[in-house]
Amino acid sequence: AIQVRDLHKSFGDNEVLTGIDFSVDHGQVVCVVGPSGSGKSTLLRCVNRLEEPTSGQIFVEGIDITDPDTELDKVRSRIGMVFQQFNLFPHMTVLRNLTIAQQRAKKRGKAEAETIARENLDKVGLADKIHAFPAHLSGGQQQRVAIARALSMNPDMMLFDEPTSALDPELVGDVLDVMRALAHDGMTMMVVTHEMGFAREVGDKLVFMDGGVIVEEGDPVQVLNDPQHRRTQSFLSKVL
Ligand code: ATP
Ligand code: MG
Repeated sequence: AIQVRDLHKSFGDNEVLTGIDFSVDHGQVVCVVGPSGSGKSTLLRCVNRLEEPTSGQIFVEGIDITDPDTELDKVRSRIGMVFQQFNLFPHMTVLRNLTIAQQRAKKRGKAEAETIARENLDKVGLADKIHAFPAHLSGGQQQRVAIARALSMNPDMMLFDEPTSALDPELVGDVLDVMRALAHDGMTMMVVTHEMGFAREVGDKLVFMDGGVIVEEGDPVQVLNDPQHRRTQSFLSKVL
């Protein structure tokens, strides 16, 4: 679970997050939407400390990750992250992409790492691509490999930053299907997305951000059907 309290983040004198409070409970899927530049990626990156918050607190499984004494590697190893760009190692096979961090960071032996890699490739429907190189896969397949790679680290939660935004439209569905299955398996997920259908169907909570604050949050169906704030209404009228 994640709790964020009064989170502020500035880049120089540009305050990008101006007091964010929210939580993601165990097994919950929270979707984050909002216009470009509203601070969605910055928020996500603060949660696994790819960005250092300027002030405020972030608890991951009850541990304050803004506390300088917290071992960041330990916290990060509990959080899987999937980006818009798939970030696979191009010179390694799919299998090696899935085993390298397991062996280095989790100290798993080769055989164990490969077994876990196979299980997760199976989960994303790509068992037959195990020896392929990333360049020989479609964008959607590469993103599913990236998800399988994150899952191979046995994270307690997954963060997704616009995982389908770089994909051709016909490839989006397969990736969303994998994410939907993960959600049904009970994974705790925070998903920045423009896929309102996914948010409506799979999300337990929808968070609308604008200008570095959460303008509105609630049940996705309710927020999408009956937004309470003018800024939410205006945003949704453009994307729905
Ligand atoms: P998008 O939908 O385009 O991905 P976003 O909601 O994810 O937008 P962020 O990427 O969080 O927005 O950016 C919020 C603001 O922070 C923007 O004004 C951006 O220019 C600024 N910003 C983000 N990262 C940095 C950085 N490393 N250095 C300086 N400014 C940054
Ligand atoms: Mg972003």
